[in-house]
Amino acid sequence: MTNTTPLLRVQSLAKAFGGNKVLQNVSFDIQPGEIVGLLGPNGSGKSTLLNIITGFESADRGVIAYRGNAIQTLPAHRIVEAGIARTFQLPAMPEKMSVMEVAMAASTTHHGFWETLLGTGGVRAAERQAHAKATALLHELLLAHVRDLPASALSGGQKKLLGIVCALMGAPKMVFLDEPTAGVHPNLRNDIVSALKRLNQQGMTLVIVEHDMHFIREVCSRCIVLDRGHIVASCCPDELSSNERVLQAYLGGGAEN
Ligand code: ADP
Ligand code: MG
Repeated sequence: MTNTTPLLRVQSLAKAFGGNKVLQNVSFDIQPGEIVGLLGPNGSGKSTLLNIITGFESADRGVIAYRGNAIQTLPAHRIVEAGIARTFQLPAMPEKMSVMEVAMAASTTHHGFWETLLGTGGVRAAERQAHAKATALLHELLLAHVRDLPASALSGGQKKLLGIVCALMGAPKMVFLDEPTAGVHPNLRNDIVSALKRLNQQGMTLVIVEHDMHFIREVCSRCIVLDRGHIVASCCPDELSSNERVLQAYLGGGAEN
């Protein structure tokens, strides 16, 4: 144990769906400023782990502490307010909202909205702030030219970028990204890599579910590998290929259990 409090500590987390034990005794720490790759075959429990940490699922057992405070019973909106945001593996976008409207809607967490409303400026100031922030983020994530299109008309890759914009609207300290480059055109993929590195340089801690080993070597300082609900490795990306348990996890192909 280090004597500094980790940004996030997950201890003895367990989750089953019926008889399917999806997470078993999962424990790990994330330190501030890390970019951690979360790897594992399909069905190994990666998205479920993200869903539990971000309040979209409840754990059967275990503790999740953010900056030393237990958060495992908080609802999703409280976890966002605490400073943890996420993106989704398959972002669904509303039919009738533009890209800009979706980005702005993501800023109206209850806390931020009411705090600004009760300040001097009122609703207009809150809207102006959200608009300015959405404009900057859409520019940063290469969506400025499509800001007035319906969000549902974006390509799969652009929807992933918009998911990242939405996650960043609340100025999180920590972001979980679920397969940000899966199905994304190689040009956009490089832009996502650059954007994530920039965010990390600005102090953001990132946990990224990813299959692409090039991406992981390029971006991540550490990897956590899940196999059938167990953590089987926590190591540098360079150590992955020499780690037999990791190779077994991949070659074994994530058998059902
Ligand atoms: P990964 O993201 O690593 O591919 P998931 O966390 O999505 O894996 O899924 C892990 C296992 O949990 C799979 O067997 C999946 O079918 C099951 N699972 C996930 N969510 C649910 C749910 N809401 N209800 C029942 N089973 C689920
Ligand atoms: Mg998944």
